Amino acid sequence: MIREVKSPNVPASLSACKEYDGQDVISQLFADHQGKCYLCELKAKQHYEVEHLKSKENFPALKFEWSNLFLSDDYCNDKKGKRFDDILNPNNNNIEDLIEQRIDSINRKALFQPTNTSNATQKTIELLNRLFNGTYAPKLRKRREDEFYKEVERIINAFNVTALQYLTNPNPQTEQLVRDELSIDKELLGFKYWIIKDNPQLLAVFGTDIKWNKT
Ligand SMILES: [Zn+2]
Repeated sequence: MIREVKSPNVPASLSACKEYDGQDVISQLFADHQGKCYLCELKAKQHYEVEHLKSKENFPALKFEWSNLFLSDDYCNDKKGKRFDDILNPNNNNIEDLIEQRIDSINRKALFQPTNTSNATQKTIELLNRLFNGTYAPKLRKRREDEFYKEVERIINAFNVTALQYLTNPNPQTEQLVRDELSIDKELLGFKYWIIKDNPQLLAVFGTDIKWNKT
């Protein structure tokens, strides 16, 4: 999970306060979030939804508030529900810095470590664990949770291979391949950023590529 930058242009259909998922809202969210779910950072394919950062059940006044709307997939939207109203707001937090995000490939587990003590960070980590590690212990992931995690593993394994190709044979081509995978439209940047940060050699070359959205 990383910071998001939302367009200041409020979609016109929201002003009528009748629907929050009009076509103009969906189109702007796809553009702003590069087609990715803001929670898991996977491409929101056919099952995308307009998600309320603060749930519409608990915060009805924010139901049509543009700054409260994000692109999500149904997997994450279902798991977030109305129980996680107080997570970090991606509009004004560098979540990639506030939470260390790693994949433990041996234990098949996503690891989230706070770099601060805020309640919002803790709550965000609680949600991320639910998304990536399942409602139960990792080895007991339900089928949907396991399918989700396998997709995460596939992408992170591929990125590790690309990074290793660069480390074993640094040249303009292998460097560009890593850089391509760090572009803003790519998936799982929170985890990729920490792979870069954890390796001094990678950080020296790609340090600027993991700061795309700092304000
Ligand atoms: Zn998601």
